[in-house]
Amino acid sequence: MDNIIEVNSLVKHYPIKAGVFQKVVGHVKSVDGVSFSIPRGKTFGLVGESGCGKTTIGRTLLRLTEPTSGEAILNGQDIFKMSKKELRAIRPKVQMIFQDPYASLDPRMPVGEIIGEAVREHKIVSKAEYRDYILKIMDDCGLRPYYVDRYPHEFSGGQRQRICIARALALNPSLIIADEPVSALDVSIQAQVINLLRDLQEKRNLSYLFISHDLSVVEYISDVVGVMYLGNLVEMASKEELFKRPMHPYSRALLSAVPIPNPDVKMNRTILKGDIPSPANPPEGCKFHTRCPECMEICKKKRPEFKDYGNNHQVACHLYEKTK
Ligand code: SF4
Repeated sequence: MDNIIEVNSLVKHYPIKAGVFQKVVGHVKSVDGVSFSIPRGKTFGLVGESGCGKTTIGRTLLRLTEPTSGEAILNGQDIFKMSKKELRAIRPKVQMIFQDPYASLDPRMPVGEIIGEAVREHKIVSKAEYRDYILKIMDDCGLRPYYVDRYPHEFSGGQRQRICIARALALNPSLIIADEPVSALDVSIQAQVINLLRDLQEKRNLSYLFISHDLSVVEYISDVVGVMYLGNLVEMASKEELFKRPMHPYSRALLSAVPIPNPDVKMNRTILKGDIPSPANPPEGCKFHTRCPECMEICKKKRPEFKDYGNNHQVACHLYEKTK
């Protein structure tokens, strides 16, 4: 399958400095060797608790944070090796939508200007076409034409997120990194924004990296899902495969917490004990062993390999290595 982006062995470690001379005394291993690819026109859902490194992945792909090592091949070119000039040239192709739509909109700018500023800078359309182009993008995102001169504070959370989506879309991107784009919105508005993202994907063959802690949202929008824990992918599979047959105990615990909209079905929730350990000092062996309800002796000593167990279903867990 044709991939829009291929991420290989991505690592992002932040140095911890201490003392008068600010000596490096350790590293926060925020992302610790993550590989995945996103097929063109599809959505890769990245899910995990906060602090697992998923947001850092999104930021490194945009070079908002420099990676420690690894590669990210976009249309045959490694984003991490690009010069500032090359990065500027591809910038419109990779856009980001953030969690808090209000914080990411300049309160002093009218909506038309927010959406159009980068369109002019990157010369996406001619001056003659500019206004019609902005109004068309607004219409595609469910924003009325007369909103063009209004300011962000005049809108609800859902409408503000539509403005953010319109701003990203106006640059005609091929990949959108959406970092918790609906977590700050009411549930009913979440559905509208997700449906808008799906419609736009269909019409424009967009690819999404959809980052979320909410499995039910990820299930609705994703084609492939990756589950992250403490800087690593622990499970990755097609949405159907992962939700039907979750293999990693962490994925199973996350899934058990997703509410079932049927009062007759009893939820069998797995409560994970303890907090997520510090990425500066992750546990030996399997990083999940301190919280895993199925932990075995080997888990405390040996890190499980991330292996394919058929159907492109990859898991890092000793439970399955035993049976192989
Ligand atoms: Fe649990 Fe062991 Fe599997 Fe880790 S390797 S998830 S500790 S069973």
